[in-house]
Amino acid sequence: MPVIVAEKPGTCTAAGCGGRILRGELCWFEAATGTRHLEPACREASAGRRSNGRAGRCRCGAHVPPREGSLTLRETRRAGRHRKQWTVICARCS
Ligand SMILES: [Zn+2]
Ligand SMILES: [Zn+2]
Repeated sequence: MPVIVAEKPGTCTAAGCGGRILRGELCWFEAATGTRHLEPACREASAGRRSNGRAGRCRCGAHVPPREGSLTLRETRRAGRHRKQWTVICARCS
């Protein structure tokens, strides 16, 4: 994972952290996991998996209640703009 300087304030995505990341702060960034603190505890927490904070619908059609599925990132490029879209996946499909 590369180290970046946060361009905007955010939240650490490590499981059990959820702390603030300030603008201009050095942090780890990976498209699939988001921004995290540099501390090893945050860097290594639950890599590559994110629980869904909101309810959603899986590609199989199942309704996924909050925190019972996971999120995957789809990145698309449209009209020169980079877009990130999170899709909810149910426990059976992940
Ligand atoms: Zn953290
Ligand atoms: Zn599913």
